[in-house]
Amino acid sequence: MDCDILIIGAGFTGLSAALHLSELEQDVVVVDAVEPGYGASGRNGGQVIPGLKLYPEEVRKQLGDEKGNAVINATNRSADLVFDLIKKYQIDCKANRNGFIQPAFSNTSCGVIRSRVELLSKLGAPVELLDKETTAEYLGTSSYFIALLDKRGGSLQPLSYARGLAKAAIRQGVKIYSNALVNKIKPLQDRWQASTQKASINANRILICTNGYSDLNNNPGLWPGLNRSIIPLHSFQVATQPLSNKLRQSILPHGHVASDTKRLLNYFRLDHEGRLILGGSGNIYEGKSIRDFSHIVKRIQSLFPQITEPQFEFYWSGKIALTMSGLPHIHEMAPGVYSGLGYNGRGVGMATLMGQWLAELVTDGGQIPGMLPLTTIKPIKLQSFRKPVITATYFWKSLQDRVEGRQKPI
Ligand SMILES: Cc1cc2nc3c(=O)[nH]c(=O)nc-3n(C[C@H](O)[C@H](O)[C@H](O)COP(=O)(O)OP(=O)(O)OC[C@H]3O[C@@H](n4cnc5c(N)ncnc54)[C@H](O)[C@@H]3O)c2cc1C
Repeated sequence: MDCDILIIGAGFTGLSAALHLSELEQDVVVVDAVEPGYGASGRNGGQVIPGLKLYPEEVRKQLGDEKGNAVINATNRSADLVFDLIKKYQIDCKANRNGFIQPAFSNTSCGVIRSRVELLSKLGAPVELLDKETTAEYLGTSSYFIALLDKRGGSLQPLSYARGLAKAAIRQGVKIYSNALVNKIKPLQDRWQASTQKASINANRILICTNGYSDLNNNPGLWPGLNRSIIPLHSFQVATQPLSNKLRQSILPHGHVASDTKRLLNYFRLDHEGRLILGGSGNIYEGKSIRDFSHIVKRIQSLFPQITEPQFEFYWSGKIALTMSGLPHIHEMAPGVYSGLGYNGRGVGMATLMGQWLAELVTDGGQIPGMLPLTTIKPIKLQSFRKPVITATYFWKSLQDRVEGRQKPI
């Protein structure tokens, strides 16, 4: 098979890149080892949150004021991009834009929330600082002190969004192949050749969009060092049975989504059928039985004691990709070969934006305002010892959260 641009990985990054490239009338093929949305994109919490996970002060510290501000501004429009694509391509994914709440769980994090509200207000974002009573009313739990309300955020059904992007791209002429695990990429004269078990695809340019699934099926890696440039970690979620009308009036009654300020954060929302979906940090291993999810179940019980006998309908996990800097990575590994990954668990908006950046980069190659800097791949040292390191880090962060959580409101 032959194409101009080959995209490996059909999550939000790869599908957004494909859709944006199709708007530029490029000849695009997308392949996925399993199917569109198989990775984090089909399994996530469905919270559309503008901006980067990393706090703005830290972004500026790492990139300098000028570049940092440009990146903060550009990434702040990631939620707009998601909702614009949904509207433009009529994607049925139960999207709503009722706002994102970030509640503070300690005095220390109240400071963070206040400065975030101040900074975002200066940028003209529609944000508000919620006092303790309003936070409790909007969330349905009195566990938090104050909160940031960002009206640009919202929610969607993630697998439907991924499939909707794929359908829109197909309508625009993109070819998408499932069950096509690429196991090798090699140069072929002045082009590239990617091989799956059944086929070879020759392309002028390649985008590798495999994020936390870069080591799928123990694939040694499509590009040297790429697997080891991120730390894949499972995030765990459970969904209750649809809540009664009475409970829906007390828990997230205005349809907000929420992710708190803990190091091992809790994120929760009601889905379109009234299930409470709550997620949190997981493990290096995939969650399999409900027992693996007992820590998440306990959080539901402590945050929402009004659900007296919670019944759980679904539980699942998926892999996020952490980076050492907390910033996503964008690489040009060789002429015409690019990758974008490492959203640190905040990728519904960011991966969609990354796809747009990759599409512009691969066609234009010029300066894209507000894009993160292109970097070289830096494999994380000791990544092979990640299991004990992650386990130790997990306990350390959970201890810090517990100590900080004992602070009394000032
Ligand atoms: C449980 C969970 C909850 C989350 N909640 C939120 C949230 O509420 N809000 C938010 O903003 N972010 C959230 N995230 C993060 C967000 O889902 C991800 O950042 C985003 O989906 C990443 O998209 P992606 O396309 O880069 O990667 P993925 O969606 O992981 O896609 C990678 C794809 O590459 C394919 N692939 C891998 N190797 C190969 C190969 N060799 N050949 C072919 N194909 C290959 C895989 O099959 C997969 O489909 C969450 C993540 C998880 C796991």
